[in-house]
Amino acid sequence: MNVEQIYKDSSALLEGHFKLSSGNHSKFYLQSAKVLEDPKTAKLLAQALAKQIQDSGIKYDAVCSPALGGLIAGFALATALDVRFIFAERVDGNMTIRRGFEVKEGAKYIICEDIITTAGSALEAAKEIEKDGGEVVAFAALANRGFCQRVGSDIEPKSNCKLPKGTKLFALDDFRFEMFDPKDCPMCKEGSIAYKPGSRGN
Ligand code: ZN
Repeated sequence: MNVEQIYKDSSALLEGHFKLSSGNHSKFYLQSAKVLEDPKTAKLLAQALAKQIQDSGIKYDAVCSPALGGLIAGFALATALDVRFIFAERVDGNMTIRRGFEVKEGAKYIICEDIITTAGSALEAAKEIEKDGGEVVAFAALANRGFCQRVGSDIEPKSNCKLPKGTKLFALDDFRFEMFDPKDCPMCKEGSIAYKPGSRGN
């Protein structure tokens, strides 16, 4: 499956000068919500991701996503896997599980994001599950930004991947775009100002 082409076809691969949530700058930005606005595409991607997970033979009971970014991908994945779906959300900056969601003792969870970059939010959601006695068996995302190592790829994880070594990460593809520390950013050097996608109608 050519996930990059699907993003391009949905005008979800934006080109410009972006400030990412990690603080780094990039020429490209992936707007997964644009891909997932078509339920047929969401279903297609989630079914492919579900197949990878099922083929691996791991056992799971539910999917949990960090809000807001992971919600649609996580719900679509849970639908494809035919399991429960819950989500974690930030309250005063801290990832929390609310809304009456119950984490069952010993239940096996897959943490699902739209895109895994350093996996920071996904890991915070995982810690909430574990705090309540659940077990996190894997992480999943539609695409991996190439810092973490996904199952089936021999790309070595980078030091900024926050997932513990040996963690299973399922993703449909690796998207490897160059990212810059703001002080070394060539676009900043040309005088352009980076903006955070979403803040200007994007
Ligand atoms: Zn820049």
